[in-house]
Amino acid sequence: MASVTLSSVSKSFGAVKVLENISTEIHEGEFVVLVGPSGCGKSTLLRMIAGLEDITEGTISIAGQVVNDTAPKERDIAMVFQNYALYPHMTVAENMAFSMTLAGSSKAEKERRVREAADILGLNDLLERKPKALSGGQRQRVAMGRAIVRSPRVFLFDEPLSNLDAKLRVAMRAEIRALHQRLKSTSIYVTHDQVEAMTMADRIVVLNGGKIEQVGAPLKLYDDPANTFVASFIGSPA
Ligand code: ADP
Ligand code: MG
Repeated sequence: MASVTLSSVSKSFGAVKVLENISTEIHEGEFVVLVGPSGCGKSTLLRMIAGLEDITEGTISIAGQVVNDTAPKERDIAMVFQNYALYPHMTVAENMAFSMTLAGSSKAEKERRVREAADILGLNDLLERKPKALSGGQRQRVAMGRAIVRSPRVFLFDEPLSNLDAKLRVAMRAEIRALHQRLKSTSIYVTHDQVEAMTMADRIVVLNGGKIEQVGAPLKLYDDPANTFVASFIGSPA
């Protein structure tokens, strides 16, 4: 079943068209990676799915409902950003609980969900710390915890690992994949890193200059690239 459907989606900033006629379906339970060079429109597309950016043309549906006019917090999604966007004055537990304040859950329910997320992410001993007392990897886990407590239908990740060192980045790829499996969620993951895309994705959407070049499983793109752009982009890791 389709979890997120993009139908002829375009985006312009003023007179500049940055995404053109994007149509694709992300299925329930899939881990789809949007990959492409810097500036090709990945973040803009993800922000449109999240409702943080208006859609110039076309429609976006989540679980069969058109969400073009649905506010971000009414969409069944949670987004994990590159810069973590943690509140510095709040503890780890408060940071995680805060995203539910907006959703209006009871105190007991919030505490239960924070404990559950902390268990899953190994954050139990860090719940009373402030973000500045955490390592980069721990901050990234808190950012994921904030998304998990909302139990969204769809997780959106925008280059969540790009501020981490290479070794941790590799470990966190596996962690995010394991989390996706465990929560049986649908995930849309943006990166400019071909290796990350190849190792994490069920299917990859290759974007270039605001257009889709090819959609397919990692091996399919590797073995049977649709054009020279895909061949060189997927075939030659940075
Ligand atoms: P990516 O995430 O793939 O690096 P972005 O989606 O951030 O690319 O940007 C795609 C294009 O849209 C870029 O040319 C960028 O400069 C432009 N862009 C992004 N946001 C805005 C904005 N708010 N106003 C004008 N142009 C923007
Ligand atoms: Mg981006």
